[in-house]
Amino acid sequence: MSPAPSSKGKPSSPVKIARRGLMLVLSSPSGAGKSTIARNLLESDSTLGISVSVTTRQRRPSEIAGKHYHFISTREFERLRDSDSLLEWAEVHGNFYGTPREPVEAAMAEGRDMLFDIDWQGARQLQEKMKADVVSIFVLPPTMTELQSRLHRRAEDTEEVIRTRLLNSRAEIEHWREYDYVIVNDDLDNAFHAVSNIIGAERIRRDRRHGLFDFVQGLLMEEPEL
Ligand code: 5GP
Repeated sequence: MSPAPSSKGKPSSPVKIARRGLMLVLSSPSGAGKSTIARNLLESDSTLGISVSVTTRQRRPSEIAGKHYHFISTREFERLRDSDSLLEWAEVHGNFYGTPREPVEAAMAEGRDMLFDIDWQGARQLQEKMKADVVSIFVLPPTMTELQSRLHRRAEDTEEVIRTRLLNSRAEIEHWREYDYVIVNDDLDNAFHAVSNIIGAERIRRDRRHGLFDFVQGLLMEEPEL
């Protein structure tokens, strides 16, 4: 709804138009820079939340339980999956990953935007279930050689894990067509700005803002004196 205009015609507080929350899905092969882009987005925009997945993978030294992932056993994973507590789930690089349903539903109900760092299988499931609320972005590396050296530079995985991830990256890239936007991460700043611009534009899409109807009605009811 539009706030009452002040004497000079400027609203007394910023115009707020209600809209549904965005589900922003970021996917890429391991090492393409998606997690760094996600981290920068969260730092630059306090209204954006992130969906913290559950995983059966081992925690990396730099990771914090509850912040990067909820690290759980395969048994616990199966319990969550079988009780429909996961909005989507997938097996990736030999481990299970899934998105807890409850925090996402709470965010969406309040019109808050959420970021999902998930693979193509998860993106597909969310697109099927949540349709128009999902905006999907695929991040490509500039070259496969650069992808390989980024994985080595990260130095948090064993050689064997890096090899598996590189082999799987080609299969992940094959799914690029299933995404709304595709970004080549040859420069982190540019890639970050591209994603920020996408979010900015998607937030003001007409079909996302159910509050527009009332706002426009209010505008048309106004009759400024000539
Ligand atoms: P990593 O082990 O490097 O943290 O993640 C491996 C892959 O699993 C990444 O492509 C990441 O996006 C994906 N992933 C992380 N969490 C989830 C999830 O909840 N669901 C799905 N489908 N994929 C996930």
